[in-house]
Amino acid sequence: MSSNSGIQIPSRLPLLLTHEGVLLPGSTMRISVETARNMHLVKNRLLKGTSLKSTIIGVIPNTRDPEHDTEDLPPLHSIGTAGLAVQVVGSNWPKPHYTLLITGLCRFRVAQLLKEGPFPMAEVEQLDKLEQYTSPKEISEAAGPEGELGELSQRFYQAAVQLVGMLDMSVPVVAKLRRLLDSLPRETLPDVLVSMIRTSNKEKLQVLDAVSLEERFKKTLPLLTRQIEGLKLLQKTRKLRPDDDKRVLAVRKGGVLPGRQFSLDEEGDDEDGDDTAVLERKVKGANMPEPALRVCLKELKRLKKMPQSMPEYALTRNYLDLMVELPWSKSTTDCLDIHAARVLLDNDHYAMEKLKRRVLEYLAVRQLKSTLKGPILCFVGPPGVGKTSVGRSIARTLGREFHRIALGGVCDQSDIRGHRRTYVGSMPGRIINGLKTVGVNNPVFLLDEVDKLGKSLQGDPASALLEVLDPEQNHSFTDHYLNVAFDLSQVLFIATANTTATIPPALLDRMEVLQVQGYTQEEKVEIAHRHLISHQLEQHGLTPQQLQIPQDTTQDIISKYTREAGVRSLERKIGAICRAVAVKVAEGHKVTKSEAAPAESAPQGAEHGEEKRGRRGEEPDGVSTDMAAPPEMPIVIDHIALKDILGPHIFEMEVSERLTLPGVAVGLAWTPLGGEIMFVEASRMEGEGQLTLTGQLGDVMKESAHLAMSWLRSNAKTYQLTNMVGGSDPLEGTDIHLHFPAGAVTKDGPSAGVTMVTVLASLFSGRLVRSDVAMTGEITLRGLVLPVGGIKDKVLAAHRAGVKRVIIPKRNEKDLEEIPANVRVELDFVTARNLDEVLNAAFDGGFPGISNPLTLPHIASKL
Ligand code: ADP
Repeated sequence: MSSNSGIQIPSRLPLLLTHEGVLLPGSTMRISVETARNMHLVKNRLLKGTSLKSTIIGVIPNTRDPEHDTEDLPPLHSIGTAGLAVQVVGSNWPKPHYTLLITGLCRFRVAQLLKEGPFPMAEVEQLDKLEQYTSPKEISEAAGPEGELGELSQRFYQAAVQLVGMLDMSVPVVAKLRRLLDSLPRETLPDVLVSMIRTSNKEKLQVLDAVSLEERFKKTLPLLTRQIEGLKLLQKTRKLRPDDDKRVLAVRKGGVLPGRQFSLDEEGDDEDGDDTAVLERKVKGANMPEPALRVCLKELKRLKKMPQSMPEYALTRNYLDLMVELPWSKSTTDCLDIHAARVLLDNDHYAMEKLKRRVLEYLAVRQLKSTLKGPILCFVGPPGVGKTSVGRSIARTLGREFHRIALGGVCDQSDIRGHRRTYVGSMPGRIINGLKTVGVNNPVFLLDEVDKLGKSLQGDPASALLEVLDPEQNHSFTDHYLNVAFDLSQVLFIATANTTATIPPALLDRMEVLQVQGYTQEEKVEIAHRHLISHQLEQHGLTPQQLQIPQDTTQDIISKYTREAGVRSLERKIGAICRAVAVKVAEGHKVTKSEAAPAESAPQGAEHGEEKRGRRGEEPDGVSTDMAAPPEMPIVIDHIALKDILGPHIFEMEVSERLTLPGVAVGLAWTPLGGEIMFVEASRMEGEGQLTLTGQLGDVMKESAHLAMSWLRSNAKTYQLTNMVGGSDPLEGTDIHLHFPAGAVTKDGPSAGVTMVTVLASLFSGRLVRSDVAMTGEITLRGLVLPVGGIKDKVLAAHRAGVKRVIIPKRNEKDLEEIPANVRVELDFVTARNLDEVLNAAFDGGFPGISNPLTLPHIASKL
């Protein structure tokens, strides 16, 4: 059998024993090298060798059970395949190993084992001819006429042609094989084809052992026929399903390597078939509209033709998975009962009457007309006033799913509308993702923080939102990723924002803005006791029997530890108290458990006659030090305990303390976080009449300062204002500096005009502004006071800060109606038409130079 012609393999070969299958001549196989023996072979032979010969090794199937493979050499299978190591890849993960890519050259028989370690080496006898064939015709002709062998080889060749014809030509290896089928020597065909078709290792071993060509043809022909029959059967079943692709997938998961990975695996095919069939069933069952279904079926068709190793396969697969998951026609039924909705809204939220009323109106209209288009509600107000939580309540009252989409910082329109599917890693936008998450097509979507949408080179997300929010357009919203329209008209959109100023006008135009104002101190106390405390207790695993926070403590938390329009930091502070108490309760539990001490034995503070006082007395050191005794329940948080837990006061009522110098007054400002008080300061020094402004002021504010200055200069005589040396022009020989604190924050707007006039009037006259007055209003050159915005928030801020009198423009009088009655009662409102009235109200006893200070329009709080 040995061949003396053609190429010779070396007569001594290092042997690689593998469990991973049978390498046949003419095929390529990946072999993982892990055993010490084989590792030595790779390291000492393959990696060190420099000649082509040193890359030829003998691959012998290791027939010993891998479980019982040991260090010593197993009995060698007598026939192996000489192979050329074309690639060696090393890796240290998960453990050191090599992966070899080996192409089989020819069979050999082990003549004699020369050495066993560190890797086996043997004297071998080459069994197959290894020709460098250049003229295939000759060879095939030579092989042709030899009687039975010739006939066998002809039959085999025909079967091979038939088989290759059934394979998918889009797979490169199949295409190559078809091209080479005629040019390959016929005697190599059995090995090449057997390594490709579905055969067991045992069958392959038999083929390897079939040294004579005739025997080899005889052994492989039935295997080939079996494969052809299998494929025919598969095609028949496919034909029954008209949409299926007629051709047969030839490649399984895992790649197109010829050899082990590349085989015509019927089961694998079936799996693929099943997989796509399941997907197809899902596509058809997803109840999508006609255009979407068409796209899906088209994609499905492409998917079936695609080998799984193609990157596009995963892309298409993901796309189809998303398409079938989307709630095209799944929806929840609204269970709207206006009465129940009212109760639920009232139960969930204290105060915010106006908002609740509008929400109920909205819901009522929806009940009467279910196809209501728009408007989209947009809740605008400071943080922590319950905008998000009202949105959640609306979803609950309707019995709908709720999904929040945070838009803060979104600056790429593909965040809303998705990426086109051509990008690697493309995704649908947040709207479609949200729909997938909730699984129904009529959820409540809360578009949180629409005022914080950004803009970037990647397009403007606000304009993408336009399409989403416009009831006229959103029934055919097209996400770039989906590329088919999805009907969003059933989705109930609610937006929230801190300010309307930064919402793009086109977007604002599509929404109905509902202002949510900040809360007064009293409202906050109520909210805390009705909602926040019980919520926090529950969150920390406590009960009202364990922790009590009295009303005056809540008031302290609100005024001394928080300064906000909403209740978020109040809730956090209550959370902090709960945590501190939870520690105490938990430690008390431990003590009672381990020592079985009765609870009554604990209190040392019980000598205080009054029971409540007793608990309070015990509380502070209980929190900070003594943990030996279990605390007496409930733990009541008083002022001392509060200081212990939350630390020293963060905010003080500071108004009266600051106004001890001329040239200071309290202004009122509006910010997206609610109203704020602001101390405006002025000082003067010798100079050349310059006005310096600091505190990061915008242009409007700078102009107000110049207006204020001009008005005062022109009226200096009337008001007896003087410069530093007593002259009648306040600016002569004098420089003025006007400062607005919190210099890190940019401020702009006209509403500080009256404050500037007051500050400067105080500076030039040397008189103190009343400590308990705060003011807001725009001024004109003639000394008129014009209306400004944000009155409610400003007044609430003044009230929080302990101000007693608030000066507002006359034309803002109507805004006072929005202010809660209890705040109105406590404040003294002065509505001013002109600056005379402002100055009169801001200084004790009026301002000199004004003819009749007693005509002060003075509304004493009742409106
Ligand atoms: P926003 O969305 O306005 O920033 P959230 O809705 O997140 O504020 O509210 C913050 C917290 O305050 C929530 O726990 C909410 O339940 C609570 N809250 C706010 N306002 C009220 C209210 N009027 N009644 C009850 N809880 C409220």
